[in-house]
Amino acid sequence: MRQILSGHGASRGSVLGRALVRLPHVLEVAEEHIDDVELELSRLHAAIDIVRAEMRALRARLHGALAHEVGEFLDLHALLLDDPELLQGLDDLIRNGRYSADYALRLQRDRIAGVFNSMDDAYLRSRIDDIDQVIGRIHAALHRRAADLQGVAGEILVTDNIAPADMLQLQAQGVLAVITAGGSALSHSAILARSLHLPLVVGAVQALQRINDGDVLAVDGSSGLVVVEPSARDLRGHRLRLRDQARERRQLNQLRREPSRTLDGTDIKLWANAESREDVAEAHALGAAGVGLYRTEFLFLRGTQTQRNALPDEDEQFRAYRDVVLGMTGRTVTIRTLDVGADKADQTGLALSNEPNPALGLRGVRLSLARAGLFETQLRAIVRASGYGPVRVLVPMISSREEVLAVRTLLKRVARDLRSEGHEIADSIPFGVMIEVPAAAIALPGFIGAVDFLSIGTNDLVQYLLAIDRNNEALAELYTPLHPAVLRLLQSVIRAAGARNTPIAVCGEMAGDPLFVPLLLALGLTEFSLHPATLLEVRRAIRSADLAELRNRAPALLRARDRAAIEQWLAAQATA
Ligand code: PEP
Ligand code: MG
Repeated sequence: MRQILSGHGASRGSVLGRALVRLPHVLEVAEEHIDDVELELSRLHAAIDIVRAEMRALRARLHGALAHEVGEFLDLHALLLDDPELLQGLDDLIRNGRYSADYALRLQRDRIAGVFNSMDDAYLRSRIDDIDQVIGRIHAALHRRAADLQGVAGEILVTDNIAPADMLQLQAQGVLAVITAGGSALSHSAILARSLHLPLVVGAVQALQRINDGDVLAVDGSSGLVVVEPSARDLRGHRLRLRDQARERRQLNQLRREPSRTLDGTDIKLWANAESREDVAEAHALGAAGVGLYRTEFLFLRGTQTQRNALPDEDEQFRAYRDVVLGMTGRTVTIRTLDVGADKADQTGLALSNEPNPALGLRGVRLSLARAGLFETQLRAIVRASGYGPVRVLVPMISSREEVLAVRTLLKRVARDLRSEGHEIADSIPFGVMIEVPAAAIALPGFIGAVDFLSIGTNDLVQYLLAIDRNNEALAELYTPLHPAVLRLLQSVIRAAGARNTPIAVCGEMAGDPLFVPLLLALGLTEFSLHPATLLEVRRAIRSADLAELRNRAPALLRARDRAAIEQWLAAQATA
């Protein structure tokens, strides 16, 4: 039956395909008893065999750059699937407790989770995610019809939520799109989905109740609309959308070699936020000024899927950073130091997993400064990469002058050490900090003299200024940069940087949305850092903007007292 579900578009792309429903990690299965033990055992083992075959098929399909990393994941899951304790425990529950296979899975999961949760080691505790994924797969297999047992390539995954590392796996598996009941368009998973060009709809709250395995879905990753069992009219709409998107792409492609210049002749610097080799290649091809934000945490997430102590060492990091630098052929690459913590904590085992308030916890530079060895290793790798082309170092989650000075001192020492060890490194490695904690924005005059450049992380700045969790779907409507406090703070930071001639960019998602271009230009911004996926659209918006006019209208923007007034201002620019 045709139904429409509406979520939030988190990564663009229109897709038509069949649903594959994955139940939430924690199984909501009621206690259930069975009479026929042998039948239940054979049901369970058939499901386990299916999952084994599915994993083998996935493994065989992997290719390209992600094959190695994602392969490790699958190998770990395959090992768990053969774990005698896990299997024996399930059999015992069915045989002795006469539980249904579903309930046995749940009991076994909770039992293992209990053991993991009591461990002191944060890394081992985080391994419960793998158990959950394996048990979740078996549970899904118990309920799938024969025709659906081909794995997930070419299907649309419907689930409760997705961890950033899972996005990589899904893309490598050939999943067409992802729909989550929870999640937010600003989460790191969403950022990664955009980077992987994997259409994503988040916050489709009814998705798990209303979508069944095998349903045909028409997904629009822009509007967030999901049509279940689309009608002839929906199919036509889908086809038209694909056609419009193709036309739009052709038009935008004509801007590939054009400058990002306003109507009145000011060149705006467009940097790229690049995480993968593909991003770097795309950034280069689209004429990005350089990489304005390379989030190194994704390297750490990838490096630690299977083993403890598998954090990327200096050489491994150095090679990754060097390759980005080489990929940009002489254009500057801004490498951000590690920002694990909050929702990026899942796989590394570095962040504390039991923090009551992880977004306010040991994340970003706080974690780096607390783990001096780890930080020094990373800085050494970054500085070594500067021997291959221009590199800037960017530090996340700065909230005080003390942190700025501590990192700057360490960076200088690292450069000195490397030189004396005979490494060829750049004469100068500009040092910058993220302005994403309101305290840093307000205290900026106190440390601006100690940095070479600044980058405003609006994703976190909005979160911390408005006290609205960027990942909380229930607050998605409230989470917006269109708030007078955000605009005023942005303007004061941009102005403080301008007064000292300190280069400043915005690298949060806001910079990648063409709608916000007039607003950011009016506030005085001349550098944007954004994912290459929307670089041409932002370039187009810049090319149709009159900078002098916008700056004249800035006072009216800053007088806006609420969101409606800001939206009105934006709407007026669109028609001006
Ligand atoms: C930001 O906060 O705007 C930002 C770019 O950093 P991240 O999204 O990685 O937290
Ligand atoms: Mg941030």
